[in-house]
Amino acid sequence: MGQKLPGLLVVLSGPSGVGKSTVAAQLLKLPDYVRSISVTTRAIRAGEEEGKDYQFVSREEFVGLVRQGELMEHAEVHGNFYGTPKEPLRRAVAQRQVMLLVIDVVGGSQVKNKDLDALLVFLLPPDQAELARRLVGRATEDVSQQTVRLQRAEMEIHRARDVYDHLVVNQELNQCVAEVDQLVQAGRRRLKDRQDAGIELYPGLKSQPE
Ligand code: 5GP
Repeated sequence: MGQKLPGLLVVLSGPSGVGKSTVAAQLLKLPDYVRSISVTTRAIRAGEEEGKDYQFVSREEFVGLVRQGELMEHAEVHGNFYGTPKEPLRRAVAQRQVMLLVIDVVGGSQVKNKDLDALLVFLLPPDQAELARRLVGRATEDVSQQTVRLQRAEMEIHRARDVYDHLVVNQELNQCVAEVDQLVQAGRRRLKDRQDAGIELYPGLKSQPE
């Protein structure tokens, strides 16, 4: 009674501008949620903090991490490299936390195939026009970068339909957050049932670096 549910790795993806960061920020206010801090080779943006938003590294450092098997997944997005460090994932599930991985669909697909019992959630915009409006409104990219991001968004949505466990439309923020949290808690209860049945959880986290 009252025992905390098992931890869960939750991949949160969606096209650039769909509101991933905002949804993630709301989820992180709920009990048990923590965020995976990715490493990236992209330049730091105004308002971002080293070690809080990302660990910003050089290309050489990134390649070193890949070689040492320190990354659970990695991908090139818009010409920069991004990856998820492994060790914090192990710590999070050991502490029964819900670890949010805010990553792209290439990374999500890699996580899915690694026996991590991860829950994959893809956020959809209410429609493509709304996505374009949000992206332009953000004004952190110039026009050619915005076009690249919109094209990539279409590719990601297509791919996510095959790979992700759930597609959630981000129409209204609070409702979207509540919906994702319900999926997460249901996922944790499923893991608890499996644990009670004697099945080992997260076998992929035990595996040695490749
Ligand atoms: P941004 O540069 O705008 O912060 O992120 C660009 C894209 O990279 C987003 O789609 C984001 O989800 C993705 N991303 C961030 N961190 C990671 C990561 O560790 N792995 C992968 N595969 N994608 C990531």
